[in-house]
Amino acid sequence: RGKKAFIAGVADDQGFGWAIAKCLAEAGCEISLGVWVPALNIFESSLRRGKFDANRKLSNGKLMEFSKIYPMDAVFDTLADVPKDILSNKRYAGNSKWTVAEVAESVKADSGNIDILVHSLANGPEVIKPLLETSRKGYLAALSASSYSLISLVQRFGPLMNKGGSVISLTYNASNRIIPGYGGGMSSAKAALESDTRVLAYEAGRKYGVRVNTISAGPLGSRAAKAIGFIDDMIRYSEENSPIQKGLSAEEVGAVATFLLSPLASGVTGHVMFVDNGLNAMGLAT
Ligand code: NAD
Repeated sequence: RGKKAFIAGVADDQGFGWAIAKCLAEAGCEISLGVWVPALNIFESSLRRGKFDANRKLSNGKLMEFSKIYPMDAVFDTLADVPKDILSNKRYAGNSKWTVAEVAESVKADSGNIDILVHSLANGPEVIKPLLETSRKGYLAALSASSYSLISLVQRFGPLMNKGGSVISLTYNASNRIIPGYGGGMSSAKAALESDTRVLAYEAGRKYGVRVNTISAGPLGSRAAKAIGFIDDMIRYSEENSPIQKGLSAEEVGAVATFLLSPLASGVTGHVMFVDNGLNAMGLAT
């Protein structure tokens, strides 16, 4: 039987989440998505209008299908956490059951247990500000959307994961190294995400028998990355200075994600795996 995967953090066909979905679909998985509520309308209409069709083609000639698409906002755990102004916001008001706990309940009702959970989302409202100028609110918002969201997902989806299941997220080496420009507490959020990956690997490993890993990816010109502003410079720097001097495709990350999510990686958990053409190993720009 095909494995069931839930992927949180897809809103177009340009990011890592989409590439992971495609690679998992190639491997025969059944895929459902959690799409950020404010991005849901445009994602669904683009999908319907065929805007993603070129990127949906699988090697068997068929188009990748999603068994379900759920509205989701990973900043809220239960309905009781949602402030009134969000509930009445017109982009949210037309949708329901989009908090993490409610999405987990819907997934359980629609598909039963799942095998694979992918966290491919981040948000840092002050990402363009240096850490030295970041507000408390901006910092905590970055941690809430980009780090606690993983804990929340594992908390709520862990109980519906089959033993032997696997979780991955996406991180960035600004957690360990100074990357000027990756601000607003996003560097802190990635450091937390990597540390939490280890602790969650232990706790969810013992409790549910699932593995938890994270992929530290090189720069990709996704929608989120374009919001940071200097992504083209990062891509150029990486191409010039990595051991392997080439661009990094989202598919290369999708392939490693599929490996980590498969039984081939049954002995790997709590791991931060670099998929960055080796840039992390350099000690000096060349
Ligand atoms: P992306 O724009 O494709 O994905 C980010 C997604 O997060 C979007 O779909 C957005 O709608 C969603 N999102 C934001 N806030 C949310 C919330 N509160 N609830 C639910 N969804 C929310 O961009 P991407 O670059 O593919 O990002 C995916 C992951 O990869 C992120 O964790 C990012 O930090 C990481 N990453 C990206 C790069 C890069 O250069 N692009 C490098 C390393 C790691």
